[in-house]
Amino acid sequence: MFEKILIANRGEIALRVHRACREMGIKTVAVHSTADADAMDVRLADESVCIGPPSSTESYLNIPSIIAAAEVTNADAIHPGYGFLSENAKFVDIVTAHGIKFIGPSADHIRLMGDKIAAKDTMKKLGVPCVPGSDGEIKTLEEAERIAKDIGYPVIIKASAGGGGRGMKVAETADALSEAFSSARSESKLAFGDDAVYMEKYLSGPRHIEIQILADGKGNVVHLGERDCSLQRRHQKALEESPSPALKDELRQQIGATVAKAIGDMKYEGVGTIEFLFENDEFYFIEMNTRLQVEHPVTEMVTGIDLVQAQINVAAGFPLTLKQEDIVFSGHSIECRITAEDPVTFAASPGPVHEFHVPGGLGVRVDSGLYSGYSVPPYYDSLIAKLIVHGKDREECLMRLGRSLEEFVVSGIKTTLPLHQELLLNEDFRKGDYNIHWLEKFIEDR
Ligand code: ADP
Repeated sequence: MFEKILIANRGEIALRVHRACREMGIKTVAVHSTADADAMDVRLADESVCIGPPSSTESYLNIPSIIAAAEVTNADAIHPGYGFLSENAKFVDIVTAHGIKFIGPSADHIRLMGDKIAAKDTMKKLGVPCVPGSDGEIKTLEEAERIAKDIGYPVIIKASAGGGGRGMKVAETADALSEAFSSARSESKLAFGDDAVYMEKYLSGPRHIEIQILADGKGNVVHLGERDCSLQRRHQKALEESPSPALKDELRQQIGATVAKAIGDMKYEGVGTIEFLFENDEFYFIEMNTRLQVEHPVTEMVTGIDLVQAQINVAAGFPLTLKQEDIVFSGHSIECRITAEDPVTFAASPGPVHEFHVPGGLGVRVDSGLYSGYSVPPYYDSLIAKLIVHGKDREECLMRLGRSLEEFVVSGIKTTLPLHQELLLNEDFRKGDYNIHWLEKFIEDR
C-alpha cells in the first residue's frame, strides 16, 4: 500500500480524498495555489506545498510544479480528483515516468475515451448501445447532409475533442445544418485545437443516466448502479440521484451487465462512468469519464462502498475481491450541488463566509471545504458544498432533504440553496418526472 499520496486538486474533492487516505492510514500532501493557502484540505493534510499563483494554469494545471512537489515530499502516488489534470493523458505519462503511481486508468485508456469518436467506436464494438449517427468524423457539408437525411432531423454536431458542453450545435432542420456544422467545427478548433466533428440524432427529451463502474485492470469489474443526472443548467449538473426514478430494475441489470463486460474486456483500471441518454426505455452511450465524478457520493450512499478507497486499493495493485452479487443497493440518495452563485441570476458570488452551519442527523452528509471565516476565492469553479442525503426510499429522502436544506446556513455570500428549496416544492420534481431540458425551463418560468 502507498505510504503517502499527493492530492493534485483543491476544494471539497481534495478534502474528500484526504479523508479516504486518513482512514486508510496513508499520509497526505496537499498542493495549493497562493489563493488557497487557508483551505481546509491544506490545514488537515500532513504536508502542504504551494505550487503557484491563483491562476489554475500556473498552479493546479502546472505539471512541473506538481511533479516537483511530489518529488520533494516523496509521495508515491498522485490522486487527481476531478477536473484539472484528472483526464490529461500527458500528465499520466509524466507522473509514470517519474516512478509515481497515477491513481486512475492508464494514459492509453484516457486518450481513447478523450477522443469521443474513438470512444464511441470502441463502445459500439464492445456491444454498448450508442446514439444513431455518423460512423466517425464528418469532413464535408455534403457528407453531413447525406447522413442527416438518413437519420432524420433534428441532429446534433459534436466535437470529437469536446467537453463541458462546448463544440455542440443542434440543427433542427436541413436549412440550419450548414451553420451548425461550420460553427461546431470552428468552436472546437478554438476551444480544443481540433476541428474533428461527428453527428448524432438529437434526442428531444432524454434523461441523463450514467453507470458507475469499478475495475482492477485485471479484468475484474463490478457496476455500482446508476445515477440520474438529468437536472442540468447549461449542461452542468445541479442535482443527482440514485436510483433513477425512471429505470426499471430489469433494465438496470441489463445495462449494468453490458457495461461491466465492456469495461472488463478493455482491461480498464480504476473507477469510471459511462454516460447515457435514456429515452423510451432505450440507452444511448454518449461518453465515458475516466475519473471520479462530482456526484459519486450518491452511489456511495446506496452501496456503502467508499469509491476513493476502492480507487486507491486497485491503484496499489490489489485485485478487486468484490463480486457483482456482493453489491447490495439500499434505499435512495440525492445530492444537491451548492454553488457560490446568485440563485436567480447565477452571477458568481465569491468572498468571505461569515457563518457556516451544516445540517446533520441520520442519513445526512455534507462534503465541503468551507468554514466560518473562510473566503471563497474568485478564481475557480463555484461549487462550495455538496449536500447528500440518504433515505429508505425516495419519499423519505425528499423529506430529509427538505429539512436539511432548512438547517443549512451559509451567510456572507450568495448560494444556490434557495434554488434547491424551490425545486423541492415542485410537483414534477417530487414525482421524478423530468428530463435534461426540465431544469432550464423551471428556472426560466419561476
Ligand atoms: P460534454 O463532454 O461536452 O459534456 P456530452 O456528450 O457528455 O458532452 O453531452 C453533454 C450534454 O449534451 C448531455 O448531457 C445532453 O444534455 C446533451 N446531448 C449530447 N448529445 C445529445 C444528443 N444526441 N441528443 C440530445 N442531447 C444531447
